Amino acid sequence: MKITLLAGGVGGARFTRGLLHLLAERYPDGEGGTTAEVTVVANTGDDMWLHGVRVCPDLDTVMYTLGGAIHEGQGWGRQDESSRVSADLAAYDLGWEWFTLGDLDLATHLARTELLRAGKTLTEVTAHLCRRWKPGVTLLPMSDQPVETHVVVGEGTPEDPERLIHFEEWWVRHRAGIPARRFEQVGVDSASATPEVLEAIMTADLVLLPPSNPVVSVGTILGVPRIREALNATPAPVVGISPIVGGAAVRGMADACLTAIGVETSALAVGVHYGAREGLDGDDLVEGDGQTEATAGRLGVIDGWLVDDSDHEAVSGLEAAGIRSRAVPLLMTDDAATAEIATAALDLAGFR
Ligand code: GDP
Ligand code: CA
Repeated sequence: MKITLLAGGVGGARFTRGLLHLLAERYPDGEGGTTAEVTVVANTGDDMWLHGVRVCPDLDTVMYTLGGAIHEGQGWGRQDESSRVSADLAAYDLGWEWFTLGDLDLATHLARTELLRAGKTLTEVTAHLCRRWKPGVTLLPMSDQPVETHVVVGEGTPEDPERLIHFEEWWVRHRAGIPARRFEQVGVDSASATPEVLEAIMTADLVLLPPSNPVVSVGTILGVPRIREALNATPAPVVGISPIVGGAAVRGMADACLTAIGVETSALAVGVHYGAREGLDGDDLVEGDGQTEATAGRLGVIDGWLVDDSDHEAVSGLEAAGIRSRAVPLLMTDDAATAEIATAALDLAGFR
């Protein structure tokens, strides 16, 4: 059994941890693990350089969560962490006072930066870091080239000119409180999906979209050339889990991201936004101006979409849009509850 997930940070990591619990029961390897092969393709749109080191928030959240090192209360960063270095850097008026890098976490960024500077790809570097944390999955960055999400803010008036800020500045410093006019994937034009990512999607038995942010986590991954096409073309069923429950993001500010791209914050609207896979053939893909359905973002990527019990009324609308759907409890309160969600996702994909 080969399962590939496209994930952001906290939502993606927590779901994957519950999935691994289920797989250990269903496909046991006799040593407490699973024979199932799980690959997590992580968003790297939140990555940045800070204090001269490369920071990859979503890769690290997945690695720490699955490796048992995560700060559970926070959802990101290391447990038993301190921030002496960040505090001392602030005394030099350097860095972003609203973005703390923990002392232990800094070691990860230093290690990553050293390996990158030695010429390794981010895929190779991530594999190196995972040798320590043993997340039980193959963890892959969506691309080896930097693709950084920036947010266009400002009214475009002299008093409030339009300007581009890094996603983390909008998300962490402003708590997504200033309206985003649009998102830009800086670097995407010269970036490509890695062969490892495309292979993981094309050779999977099942592809899952965990309840990650549909715009700045999964949406960013889908924006990398050829990933949307691969998702549309894979012989594996593709099933997603709604990150929107009862018309709201369970945690975080996904609603602000959805508003910016003109999608309603509802389980139905997000499922329809991903769109049903239709198995278009190559000729259907090329439009008049040479743009493909995929680059235009209209190529559907899912077969199934799980919604929360409280959103059961969305099921008929999703089915009418060609998307198989079921309503089950979608709150990831603990690993057991999350494993139940994973069971429902496998079920919807036809794996019983
Ligand atoms: P980030 O990169 O750390 O923001 O994490 P992700 O993009 O992977 O996940 C963030 C999304 O997870 C948010 O938009 C939430 O709506 C969603 N989420 C968080 N907790 C839960 C939960 O318990 N259930 C569901 N269905 N979604 C959740
Ligand atoms: Ca993220």
